[in-house]
Amino acid sequence: MKELAHKYHAGQKRKGEGNIPYIVHPEAVVDTLLKWGVKPDSPMISIAWGHDLLEDTKVTEAEILNVSDETVLAGIKMLTRPREADKKLYLEGIADSGNRDILLVKVSDRICNSKDFIKLEGKLSAYRYLHEADCLYHALKNISDDPVAQNALTAWETLDNELREPARCDAVRGCLIGGAAGDALGSPLEFLRKDSIKSVYGENVSQYVESGDGTGSITDDTQMTLFTVEGLLRANVRSREKGICDPVSVMRFAYLRWLKTQGIEPEAPEDFINSGWLIQEKQLFQQRAPGNTCITSLESKSVPARNNSKGCGTVMRMAPVGLFFEPEQAYDYGCKFSALTHGHPTGITSGGAFAMLIAYLMQGKTLEESLDLTERHLEKIPAASETLAAIRCARTASDISEIGEGWIAEEALAIGIYCAVHHKWNFKAGVIEAVNIDGDSDSTGAITGNILGVILGENCIPEKWRKNLREYEIVSRTADDLYRIFECNESGHVTED
Ligand SMILES: [Mg+2]
Repeated sequence: MKELAHKYHAGQKRKGEGNIPYIVHPEAVVDTLLKWGVKPDSPMISIAWGHDLLEDTKVTEAEILNVSDETVLAGIKMLTRPREADKKLYLEGIADSGNRDILLVKVSDRICNSKDFIKLEGKLSAYRYLHEADCLYHALKNISDDPVAQNALTAWETLDNELREPARCDAVRGCLIGGAAGDALGSPLEFLRKDSIKSVYGENVSQYVESGDGTGSITDDTQMTLFTVEGLLRANVRSREKGICDPVSVMRFAYLRWLKTQGIEPEAPEDFINSGWLIQEKQLFQQRAPGNTCITSLESKSVPARNNSKGCGTVMRMAPVGLFFEPEQAYDYGCKFSALTHGHPTGITSGGAFAMLIAYLMQGKTLEESLDLTERHLEKIPAASETLAAIRCARTASDISEIGEGWIAEEALAIGIYCAVHHKWNFKAGVIEAVNIDGDSDSTGAITGNILGVILGENCIPEKWRKNLREYEIVSRTADDLYRIFECNESGHVTED
């Protein structure tokens, strides 16, 4: 089989890796299996040599049979993904097949490819690629008394451990810096309709156009996102130092500090309002079309807010909650923090749903799976029916205008989801589509930037957008502060009163 693999992969190159001959891949899959204790004369080794032959070359089944047997051919066929087949179903088919040999070859294949991804696209991509196949890992666990499976498990976990920290750090930075870039790009377009954008700028806006020098600046969306991070960090510190805390009131004080940056002196003790580095940042003391509902509800003393607003001010600031908490907690706190400013159930549950979506993405799940899981959660909550309907609309709409304009929470969330779904591998294209719309361009740009940033990492954000972002240093520092939480805890943690 080794000779057949060499013959048919001859001349083929590894995808995107320059001039590396394809054959190094089956070779690596074989070597890995041997290292795990598979005997050299096992049919698994032949299957590993030939696992990509039917998928990627013109070899015939007869030729495979000529150098092997029915078991090997059947194995290679099981590992061959039909062109149109759904990736997830294909992987689940292998995980559930009960065929130990095929499972182990596939795990070896996955681990080898993930390692190649590190060099190609960085550790976040490799981490996502590995976790896309979590069903294989769970299947391995079921046969962990098998010594080869045990070695495979150890290899999987070692790689996962090596990738997790750098991948999460990149995801946090990508999410916050990505949101800020989308916000800055959309800022001058917020009150322009699509045709006016075209007539003023000649075409879709794809660079910062607000000031003549090419720089862009964040608006209230990112300002409030930064203060959300600050609130989470303080809740975490307080909880660790004192054993208990009320994250909702800690968050309220963080938002009151934001209120101060808008020129309104909040009614709260001075040492609460003036503490921390964020409030010292002069650059944040700018009124950038802040949402009225956020201002008035923070000015009033009622907690939760007493209004019936479902403006997008909840969703646009909630990404950090998903970076910090596990999904279910992210949903709960996303709702509670939203309720500090907005009273309508859809405004509140949209904030929760966005935090939950980001939390699933943070775990390494794919966008589709994260959306499925978020939908499943919302199905159980009657107050979330509008939010759920908007997410479903985002996933099926054939045009962005079907969703709405994004002034209200569920529409802003849905536009972000629509743009992320349609531009999964292209941060720039996704954010450009999100801001060149009839509606609330800075918020839809920020939300899209958050989603695509957490998936793709910081390097996916055009360098020019990062370099020309006036608040880059502040956002970057905030992201690193948030990430440091993961070095202390597996995920964010607060202990409530
Ligand atoms: Mg704004």
